[in-house]
Amino acid sequence: MSNIKDKVIVIMGASSGIGEATAKKLALEGAKLVIAARRAHRLKAVVESLPNAEISYTAADVTKKEEVQAVIDLAIKKYGRIDVLFNNAGIMPLAPMSENHFDEWRQMLDINVMGVLNGIAAALPIMKKQQSGQIITTDSVAGHIVIPTAAVYCGTKFAVRAIMEGLRQEEHENNIRTTMISPGTVDTELPNTIKDPQVVQTLKENASKEGFGLRPEDIADAVAYAINTPESVAINEILIRPTKQP
Ligand code: NDP
Repeated sequence: MSNIKDKVIVIMGASSGIGEATAKKLALEGAKLVIAARRAHRLKAVVESLPNAEISYTAADVTKKEEVQAVIDLAIKKYGRIDVLFNNAGIMPLAPMSENHFDEWRQMLDINVMGVLNGIAAALPIMKKQQSGQIITTDSVAGHIVIPTAAVYCGTKFAVRAIMEGLRQEEHENNIRTTMISPGTVDTELPNTIKDPQVVQTLKENASKEGFGLRPEDIADAVAYAINTPESVAINEILIRPTKQP
């Protein structure tokens, strides 16, 4: 029997890529979904593509604590509980450190790290009261290794791993499951924020190699697996690379 059906699931960063694919997968499995991101028109398109699903959307910027709280409040108002929070929003404007893109560094820290903390801060009190719940965060292979041009991005994903492990240690006794999904290269809009021409060129060359990128649906399958296991089983991390990725 599915352990996804009828679960109340909030997805932050569901307007494209991994979040969108996960919303579609979980909707088909019978979850009750509230999805959020900044681009409302893209969220609306996701909802409209699922006419038979129990799904609603609201625009929110994960760097704004009160907007994240409003998404969680909406789920509580509609369903009275939250079973899963999927912290998936993220950006990746890669560049060598010597280029000194200070504003991009701050934005990455705000979205990739503070965005996750804002989600945890809003959902955790409810899950503790429920004595059940699952917090899933999209980490990365970049949370395990550091590569040139990705120092700050990797820093955010290393930070998220530490935060999620700390959350696990503190909250497992409250029956709260924690899960990190750590993909390698996935074919999404994520590289669109990269301005450095050399980095863009390298990524394009990699993307043209056969079998290099995963599909967002491959990651959605992993998220669904981590939710679907029995409540007594916590899948703490899933690391997924394309087979041909070094
Ligand atoms: P996309 O760019 O397709 O998706 C990113 C999502 O994050 C979008 O829905 C975007 O929505 C949302 N987002 C970004 N900034 C904010 C914000 N301030 N507030 C709310 N939502 C925001 O890329 P992916 O699907 O690839 O990325 C999803 C996650 O996967 C990220 O955390 C990324 O770091 C991680 N990841 C991706 C990999 C890849 O190769 N693609 C590999 C490893 C990890 P909007 O712009 O509408 O706000």
